[in-house]
Amino acid sequence: MPKGNYVDFKAVKTAVSMEQVLEHYGLLDQMKRSGDSLSGCCPIHGGSNPTQFRVSISKNCWNCFSECKHGGNVLGFIAKKENVSVHAAALKLIEWFNLPTADKPTEEEYEPQRKETPRTAAPTRQTSVPPPTVSKERAKPEDNTPNPPLKFRLEHLDGKHPYLTERGLTPETIVDFGLGHCAKGMMAGRIAIPIHNVEGQIVAYAGRWPGEPPDANTPKYKLPPGFRKSLELFNLDRAAKKQGPLILVEGFFDCIKLWQLGVKRVVALMGSTLSVAQAELIRKHTDSRSQVIVMLDEDDAGRAGREDIAVRLSPFAFVKVHVFGKEGMQPEHLSAAEVLDLRGGVP
Ligand SMILES: [Zn+2]
Repeated sequence: MPKGNYVDFKAVKTAVSMEQVLEHYGLLDQMKRSGDSLSGCCPIHGGSNPTQFRVSISKNCWNCFSECKHGGNVLGFIAKKENVSVHAAALKLIEWFNLPTADKPTEEEYEPQRKETPRTAAPTRQTSVPPPTVSKERAKPEDNTPNPPLKFRLEHLDGKHPYLTERGLTPETIVDFGLGHCAKGMMAGRIAIPIHNVEGQIVAYAGRWPGEPPDANTPKYKLPPGFRKSLELFNLDRAAKKQGPLILVEGFFDCIKLWQLGVKRVVALMGSTLSVAQAELIRKHTDSRSQVIVMLDEDDAGRAGREDIAVRLSPFAFVKVHVFGKEGMQPEHLSAAEVLDLRGGVP
């Protein structure tokens, strides 16, 4: 965050394109591209008509032909979207895109993209794990650039949202995990779930649609563009400090629920596959005497995932695969008694 109040508006608004701003909000995918323009539903007034909002790529400006009856540049867009002044919008833009400011030396490399230039990352040790099954996330194994810690926090998250209590979470758990319904910005209308790296820094917010999404274009989960979940294990920052077997689950809520029931050494893959980076994280936080319990969902993806994971983790840990008796069962559905049983009766 720049200390001074001086903002070079002209430099800021030309440094970032409307496309990048839409991408920052996770809105770019929802826009239709045609020649020089992007069009879609107006993200400012929240319209549903996909012809009302238009962006001119070459002019780097936007227009809403409906309720807003307004248009402008990137700063105006952010100001409207965040309901802040143009000055505050410029500060946000500087922060999000790591733009140079008067307070920063000008020789500092200017990065219009949040994506970082490949640094000479510390060489990571290669495990003897066989090449993983094909997955988009693993397409570039050479890129070990970590997810950068976020420079902002989502404020005013509503932890009292009924979705959280419906999922069986207690107020303490909701606070522990920093969960809450988000009213504006990229995760507007979603339950924000902070994802920490192993150092405990927030690297992303996942957004869970509270309930069944209304249509096929609304994903259940949303992650910020550029964030690579394959580099993180959800809750590892806290699980790493705990003793006992390491429990590996698929979803955020499986993890959160088990934590609430007293299973503190639990991490979530955020999917049903284990990436090379995730396997490496597990190797770092276990030894040959450690037990890893793989507890994926009882469905086709979960069964396939757990076989693969068991094979790949067994060279460095004692791996146990948990099999649920019932199709469709997942860790989140376990009762307190079943979890107690799982922990060998240790409360
Ligand atoms: Zn509008």
